Amino acid sequence: VIEIRGLHKAYGPLEVLKGVSLRAPRGHVISLIGSSGSGKSTLLRCCNLLEDSQQGDILFDAEPVRWRGQGLGRHPADRAQVTRFRTNLSMVFQQFNLWSHMTILQNVTEAPVTVLGQDRAEVEERGRQLLAKVGIGDKCDAWPAQLSGGQQQRAAIARALCMNPKALLFDEPTSALDPELQQEVVKVIKDLASEHRTMILVTHDMRLAADVSDHVVFLHQGVICEEGPPDQLFGAPQTDRLRQFLSATM
Ligand code: ATP
Ligand code: MG
Repeated sequence: VIEIRGLHKAYGPLEVLKGVSLRAPRGHVISLIGSSGSGKSTLLRCCNLLEDSQQGDILFDAEPVRWRGQGLGRHPADRAQVTRFRTNLSMVFQQFNLWSHMTILQNVTEAPVTVLGQDRAEVEERGRQLLAKVGIGDKCDAWPAQLSGGQQQRAAIARALCMNPKALLFDEPTSALDPELQQEVVKVIKDLASEHRTMILVTHDMRLAADVSDHVVFLHQGVICEEGPPDQLFGAPQTDRLRQFLSATM
């Protein structure tokens, strides 16, 4: 679904991504691991065109996304393509980012109704089903502040799913949660993986990465240092850098 080729990204003089290539085929779960500051969030944000990049290609369903250097979304043709691209990718953030002035159901239904122009009644029906699926079907009319962190994150996942995206991007979805609450979210992510959703998952949770991934990518200082199936990466790391990283985190 998503392919990135030779991506370079710098913030001023700071080179954050130095030629990263990544492929997330349909139905696969790709995990991104690496130390703090290695560029994981930046890579995910570039995937979703939240960030501009200096060099490299982004392809969606084998179609190149043309937008760099033209001012993101400034040209109508680009804007249509960027919108289509973004609605096909839903992102879940570490800090949930729910809208505090909307109920949980409104959070889930807002974008499909206003961005995609879908029928409100149909979207609400789907939203209720998704909230039930993530185990908070009784919280539709609650406000975000009334939910625990784990419940808020599950609402954020339901919101992402309600767009019917072709792929989900997760940026450390469990990092802001206490260990007991992490498990609720881990369960939802595992369920999605078992349904063969296409996902790119940035995580510090090596057990989660080992359990759900088809492919694991270890990013170090803006380059892919090592990648492969989880058994290989976690069971038989080839580089000292990955061995050091794993011994420090596991
Ligand atoms: P973490 O595990 O802590 O979330 P990360 O791997 O996600 O780390 P990034 O957030 O991608 O790392 O950051 C990579 C580097 O880019 C860091 O050195 C960071 O300081 C820098 N950086 C990120 N965003 C910006 C920005 N908007 N402006 C300038 N520098 C930035
Ligand atoms: Mg990050």
